[in-house]
Amino acid sequence: MSVGKTALRAYKTEIDPNPEQIVLIHKTIGTCRYVYNLFIQKNKERYEESEKFLSGYDFSKWLNNVHSKQEEFKWIKDVSSKAVKQSIMNADGAYKKFFKKLTAFPKFKKRSDYGNFYLIGSIRVKRHLIQLPTLGKVKLKEKGYIPFENVKSCTVSREGDRYFVSVLVEEDKLPKTETKKTEGVGIDMGIKEFLYTSNGESVANFSKSEQLIKLTKSLKRQQRKLSRREKGSANFRKQKVIIQRLHRKIRNIKMDLKRKLILKIVQRNPQFVTIEHLNIKGMQRNRRLSNSLQQIGIGYFIEWLRMKCLEREIELRRADRFYPSSQICSGCGERKKMPLHVRLYDCDHCGMKKDRDLNASINLKKAKEYTVLT
Ligand SMILES: [Zn+2]
Repeated sequence: MSVGKTALRAYKTEIDPNPEQIVLIHKTIGTCRYVYNLFIQKNKERYEESEKFLSGYDFSKWLNNVHSKQEEFKWIKDVSSKAVKQSIMNADGAYKKFFKKLTAFPKFKKRSDYGNFYLIGSIRVKRHLIQLPTLGKVKLKEKGYIPFENVKSCTVSREGDRYFVSVLVEEDKLPKTETKKTEGVGIDMGIKEFLYTSNGESVANFSKSEQLIKLTKSLKRQQRKLSRREKGSANFRKQKVIIQRLHRKIRNIKMDLKRKLILKIVQRNPQFVTIEHLNIKGMQRNRRLSNSLQQIGIGYFIEWLRMKCLEREIELRRADRFYPSSQICSGCGERKKMPLHVRLYDCDHCGMKKDRDLNASINLKKAKEYTVLT
């Protein structure tokens, strides 16, 4: 299926900047306000003297080459030049609207606890942080909400004592023309590490990535190291940090693999996608499971899947709460107990042998009682 057009979509989320970053955010907002007001002031004078309008482009040149060269205005250069430039273009735009008689004469921006600035350049997103030009790595309060790829630009804003980032992401815009729907798909994504589909695809066979194998090996090595450290010592704590970082890296790669697999599935335009009903509260009561549950961030993942299905008008089904997808034989329909550690479904009735997750995903696909989520 060919994917032609793209569209920009905004994602806004709260950030948790450190004290130095907060200082820089305030400073950038202040500088942008100063430059904006300077532009308004300059052109106001020109307007009153019936002189020609000074464009944002020319003002920007003057600001860089003349104004901020003076000792007392050097601080303008302390913040992102992209942010300053955008602020000038905003002021330029305000005048242009006024000239077109769309708005009143541009106003000065007042000092306040609210403000924002624009950034463009290399922006990298991870589950828990966003790397921004000049600000560096900023913690995200809501983990995993912003897509990892194709972030084009962003606006950082302050709302009192809270801070936000709104990123523009380039996303595929699918042609409206109806492509033929393909067979429905069941996805088993419970508490296990992997995602399995009724087509036999899984993140397990995706994740033969060398990077992941390397990281897993490294994790084992570091864990052995930790076991040799004296509990509570400085070295022990240091070693723990190394391990946490590795865990995080692995988690992100796996999450990314899952997203890729899901994208691959929805791009085939199936009639429906069925997932299981995850009794999250029940799982959290089980300590062994709750840890991996947190790692997967399942709630977020389902929401993401729902969005992808909505975009493509695919019916997303959630099987009934008591539908025993892992206990039924997908071959003959017989049922048997399947404790979590049993990885192979070996049917006593018809002799079918299938990976536990594959069997469950086929059953999900066949599920007749479900709730439609899209
Ligand atoms: Zn059977």
